[in-house]
Amino acid sequence: MDDATTSTPSPLDPASGPGFDPAALRERYRRERDRRLRPDGNGQYRRAAGEFGYYAKDPHAARVEREPLTDRVEALVVGGGFGGLLTGARLREAGVESVRMMDEAGDFGGTWYWDRYPGIHCDIESYVYMPLLEEVGYVPQWRYAPGEEIRRHAVAIAEHYGLYRDAVFQTRATELRWDEDGAEWIVRTDRGDVMRARYVVVSSGTLTQPKLPGIPGIEDYRGHTFHTSRWDYGYTGGDADGGLTGLVDKRVAVVGTGATGLQAVPHVARDAQHLYVFQRTPSTVDVRDNRPTDPEWAASLEPGWQRERMENFLAILSGEEVDEDLTQDRWTSTARLQRKMITGAVDTTLDPAERERLDELADFTTMNEIRARVDDLVTDPATAEALKPWYRYMCKRPGFSDQYLQAFNRANVTLVDTADHGGITRMTETGVVVGEDEYPVDCIIFATGFETGVSGVVSGTLPVYGRGGTPLGEAWARGPRTLHGFYSHGFPNLFHLGAMQNANSVNFVHILQEQAGHIAAVVAAAGKAGARYVEPTREAEDAWIATLREVAVDNSEFLAGCTPGYYNGEGKRRAAPTSYSPGPVAFHRLLAEWREGGMDDVLVAPDTEQRELAEG
Ligand code: NDP
Repeated sequence: MDDATTSTPSPLDPASGPGFDPAALRERYRRERDRRLRPDGNGQYRRAAGEFGYYAKDPHAARVEREPLTDRVEALVVGGGFGGLLTGARLREAGVESVRMMDEAGDFGGTWYWDRYPGIHCDIESYVYMPLLEEVGYVPQWRYAPGEEIRRHAVAIAEHYGLYRDAVFQTRATELRWDEDGAEWIVRTDRGDVMRARYVVVSSGTLTQPKLPGIPGIEDYRGHTFHTSRWDYGYTGGDADGGLTGLVDKRVAVVGTGATGLQAVPHVARDAQHLYVFQRTPSTVDVRDNRPTDPEWAASLEPGWQRERMENFLAILSGEEVDEDLTQDRWTSTARLQRKMITGAVDTTLDPAERERLDELADFTTMNEIRARVDDLVTDPATAEALKPWYRYMCKRPGFSDQYLQAFNRANVTLVDTADHGGITRMTETGVVVGEDEYPVDCIIFATGFETGVSGVVSGTLPVYGRGGTPLGEAWARGPRTLHGFYSHGFPNLFHLGAMQNANSVNFVHILQEQAGHIAAVVAAAGKAGARYVEPTREAEDAWIATLREVAVDNSEFLAGCTPGYYNGEGKRRAAPTSYSPGPVAFHRLLAEWREGGMDDVLVAPDTEQRELAEG
């Protein structure tokens, strides 16, 4: 044990000293990072496609055949998760009747359609995460809602706003091409559709494509295997509440201990004959404290309560001043630490060095509490030691559970620490090998996360051709170019949702809700002004990119000090954030002011258009 890092944490009081040795902790974090760094970065993963395509197959719906469509709609929304649903809803509220929703899945829900693994819950408080609660007339049953409740809520939103009407599911957009003559987009799909739409909104999500570790021999394994985002209940039995009766006589491997692993492991542990959890980097596992919604509290809610609560949560996480913390959970109490990754307002009364010193001290204190919790909950000292995370709080997505750590006290659960080997060494026909040790298993469940491309328009999986047939990839060859992250010059009437050049927050649904409202407001304004296109001027785009650079907070040093993970491109990314650094509250204020300013930067009226054409 490392004495410098295990002394009792004391409150953050610079006068009395931190009660531990920061230099020793820094050194320990550096050692832990170094032993995990791999030269191959993201190259270590394999796509769940081609030979591994079966890992991405939809287990929830059989394919439904249909004839290709060649019709025309006013607005086409690619993506039926919360981003797409919110956009559809807000467009409807703005009076746009002809809206087509499109998704590869068999229904609405996005992440919550695909991910149905046992134990799935939202780790953000449901009252601020689940959108449009007041509009739909619903109060979640739990403080942190189970996945199925959230999926049903997505369906309820779609029903409430009539979004099933023209929806197409099990359909992937394969090309967007601007048709200058018709002033509309031609949308091609993998179903042979050639649809036309005046506006296209792309909300295809960021963590959607399951990825697998490129473990040598992965293709040799002959047992049963699947990815958590395509849980195979046909094999395991049970449902998202557990009861995995199919596993009672099975030796099961779970690979990965991120947010998903934390939620699934307790259920597999309960039901499997034996569970091996293959861990590379331990997650932080903080207090969850889930509980049913108090009916008296629900009855006392006044109109406008959800917006107020969402704004309050976002403000706290963004470092804004608030009178009260309405959520009061471990997200809000660790808000200061989160700004290392998700930037926001900072205390300018302190000089930057002093601020960094206090930030780091607060980080060490929280991480010491999290490590002490492992000792409190895990009986075997060696297992407890292996479960302790040694890095700064926001190096990885924070985790929460009141059941995960306890699962390792069960006789039928073994933690296999792979850190010294950079992960699993190889797989054989019958099991998993770490170093020299082989673990024969009947089933391997990959909780290994998702590809982290921005949306398909950036990664190239959805090719886009704008004015004059220019590919978006060419226009963005030196980096994405947008105004406020939403739209680009040369690509009229095309909107993007996502964090890129826009805002970011852990409660990303809140960001999506603001984006959806903004897009609907712009489309409505275009209609009112008789504008033919929504398209930013090149000057507006240049100015926005310059602003992003000017206000960027450089967190490259922090990222470089982190253990590898998707937050820092597996140890390779050193770039400053691509979102608006002053944070979402400031960004939403900026957008509101811009809208009030008349939106001239993007509305191209017929007379402007003629003038531009005349000027060549
Ligand atoms: P993550 O990418 O967070 O975790 C993947 C896990 O697989 C890590 O523990 C990783 O280890 C491990 N791994 C990868 N390769 C290997 C290997 N070769 N050998 C051993 N282990 C390996 O994926 P998740 O699905 O857990 O979470 C993804 C994101 O989805 C979350 O960060 C969160 O944003 C979201 N999510 C949100 C939830 C919510 O409630 N809102 C719930 C679940 C997920 P290492 O860390 O060393 O790379």
